[in-house]
Amino acid sequence: MVALQGGGVSSTEVWKRLWKLDVPGKIKIFGWRALLGLIPCRAILANRHISNVSGCPVCQNGAEDIRHIIFTCDRARAVWRLLGMWEKIEQLLGTDRSGSIILEESIRRGEQIQALGVGFPELILTGGWYLWWERRQRVHGESTQRPSRSGLSIATLTKNYKLAAKRVSQLEKVGENHRKMW
Ligand SMILES: [Zn+2]
Repeated sequence: MVALQGGGVSSTEVWKRLWKLDVPGKIKIFGWRALLGLIPCRAILANRHISNVSGCPVCQNGAEDIRHIIFTCDRARAVWRLLGMWEKIEQLLGTDRSGSIILEESIRRGEQIQALGVGFPELILTGGWYLWWERRQRVHGESTQRPSRSGLSIATLTKNYKLAAKRVSQLEKVGENHRKMW
């Protein structure tokens, strides 16, 4: 494993697993950028002297980096708590692990969340992407919904995508059988 700039990770096994997850392409790309530390947060921009504001635009609390946006922001904590994921995330946080390392660890574990009928990595990536999207809306002056609504949307998005992917693979199987019949 090679440590990259911005606390990113590079491990072939994790990339392979990421591409196989049941999430839409845009969420895989978000995950890929987050693993490499390529999400333009305020802390990263401030380090590169692109901006002199490093604080979080959502909670105004602490420096905003990937770890903060996806996991430790007040808003992220509230959403993960509502989804019943906070304890698992707290274990992954460690003392000074970067957001990229935490994401890598979630993908590596590949656990299933029985209560929600989805995979842990899928839920984390969809949630991370969603929180990131909401943060952008906020920066652009749009209002943000309540954390409970966001939690519900994240759970629904993750589950629906999984079900749709399953349906497509079943249809492909039916198609194959038809071809064999003829
Ligand atoms: Zn925050």
